[in-house]
Amino acid sequence: MKIEYLSESNPDYKCLEEYISNGSFGSAAEQWLIDAQTENKLGIENLKSQSAELFSQEETGSEIEHLFSSKIAVPTKYDSLLQYSIVSALMNKIKSSAEILALNNQQVPCFTSLPTGEGNASALKLPGSSKVFLLFDSHLFTFCHLFSKAFSLCLPISVNEDDNVKYSVELAKLKSHIENNNNQCVDRVQDLLHCFCVNKRPVETKAYQAPEDYLPLINVLKDGMQLMIVGHEFGHLCSGHLDKELQFAVINSAIEDDLSDQHTKEYEADFLGALLALQALNSDGRDVVLSYTAVELFYSAMILCARYSRYTLGKKNKHFEEAESAAHPTFINRKHLIRHAIKNVEGIEKYRDAIDILGEFSDQCVDMLWMEIIKKCSSK
Ligand SMILES: [Zn+2]
Repeated sequence: MKIEYLSESNPDYKCLEEYISNGSFGSAAEQWLIDAQTENKLGIENLKSQSAELFSQEETGSEIEHLFSSKIAVPTKYDSLLQYSIVSALMNKIKSSAEILALNNQQVPCFTSLPTGEGNASALKLPGSSKVFLLFDSHLFTFCHLFSKAFSLCLPISVNEDDNVKYSVELAKLKSHIENNNNQCVDRVQDLLHCFCVNKRPVETKAYQAPEDYLPLINVLKDGMQLMIVGHEFGHLCSGHLDKELQFAVINSAIEDDLSDQHTKEYEADFLGALLALQALNSDGRDVVLSYTAVELFYSAMILCARYSRYTLGKKNKHFEEAESAAHPTFINRKHLIRHAIKNVEGIEKYRDAIDILGEFSDQCVDMLWMEIIKKCSSK
């Protein structure tokens, strides 16, 4: 078992490796290299010992030899096998969705995921290559995983006689569940926000196991959030934002006239990203309304991050809301617009009332959670 670096044989990935090594995607390239090499070496050793154990009884020596001589490809020498496999799985789902929805514009992007700690992702063209590159901060995926877990714990659930898990959407129950904080849901979310927004390392969040009853919910929320990240960048590609002559506006009817070109592009990528993510969840047999709530949860999580960052920086205006930048509209506006646009999509419009009800419930949960986090922080 050996790692193959695509940058050694593929000129596009060579360009990517140069882009990374000159610090263009983040300044800690040297450290990424050391971490990736250490992590990958350990990962390969673990895989080898597991396979040796698994095959020792039944397989012949030559089969093990074949397995050990096989290669696992990663884009560049900066890539972690684990992180690349996470983003590859998401990318495959989004690509399949693009084919089903006939959104694929025939360009196959190169992609990678590196621990920048900036919560950033981008779709761009690099000098020396005609390919489109989708680049992600790998911490974002870790954050989404941990957020879906901590956020799920904020929702009250009950198990009926048939062992079926029931999620309550009663606001009074939600409120007392969060305020009581019996399962430490508020502490879990706050710890994660702190590790992601302040320390830039979500992986430092205190480890815990979620109760088994929550696992199905955690999984769908995690998938929705992570697919939305990849879907958004893929949305830039499908909209032709990197390729002037392919440009077309998909949600003109839903947006205001005086938006900047840059903001319009972000809304378009959001809308296509949400469609792609929903299609991927639908292909996995997920419920449409819950899937949409999961996709939208990514924006709610980013709103909480913006509030938490501003709070810790002492920018204590009334609600600690973010300000829009030239490059991006606020996450609040983006969430609002996606919900508005998605409800008009053929096939989804029949779920519009249910989407509104569950969306409102999720929003209330975020706000109640934020109130408790503020209380907790200001009492310290
Ligand atoms: Zn974007």
